[in-house]
Amino acid sequence: MEIKNKPQPDPVADIKIVDAYMRWALLAAEEVVGAKGMSVVLRDSKLERFAGNYPADVLKPGGTITFGEYADLNAGLLSFFGRAGKSMAYRVGRISAKHGIDQQSAIFGVAALLAAKVLPYSTQIKVGLDAMNDGFRKVYGAANYSGRIEDRGATIAMIMPECANCAGKQSTEPMCLIHVGVLLESVHWLSGKEADVKQTASRSMGAEACVWEVSKTPKE
Ligand SMILES: [Zn+2]
Repeated sequence: MEIKNKPQPDPVADIKIVDAYMRWALLAAEEVVGAKGMSVVLRDSKLERFAGNYPADVLKPGGTITFGEYADLNAGLLSFFGRAGKSMAYRVGRISAKHGIDQQSAIFGVAALLAAKVLPYSTQIKVGLDAMNDGFRKVYGAANYSGRIEDRGATIAMIMPECANCAGKQSTEPMCLIHVGVLLESVHWLSGKEADVKQTASRSMGAEACVWEVSKTPKE
């Protein structure tokens, strides 16, 4: 996978990310690559300002951290991992989501999600993705987040015209893999099952929005 900065400025890269999302991604990345690996990743992604200085655990955007910096971290990890990139990025996403699940209960309406634990698997996915999408819209506001959920028959699609994983980047392959991990972990939390998740479009490859599709049938 070859990742470069887009030749033209990408307005999505300027959107302010939730500080806690960057914190969880940094913590997850450090857990996967170790402290030494992390200093290499931060240096190579030009994110030295976060070395020993992770953002606060605050669930609000509007600090100083941008989608573009989150994408820098993602790109830095993918290049650090090399061939193992995909599975390692999924791990970072899964660990990052674990940090988030407890703390986002109010935003994601966890009571409703807990009630959904007894529903059929395909309904659980729909309820879960709707809650996640509504949560993102709540924290970012409708002006900065226009993501939506779509039933595509065999899959449920999450469609994000504003994606932090790839903001400002162009890539030869779908690169928004931390979010694949986030979806895997979230569906596992909700259903106890391993989801079948694929990224089917990426802004980094010229699409209008990033799209991840979750199969209505689990892997097991
Ligand atoms: Zn993306």
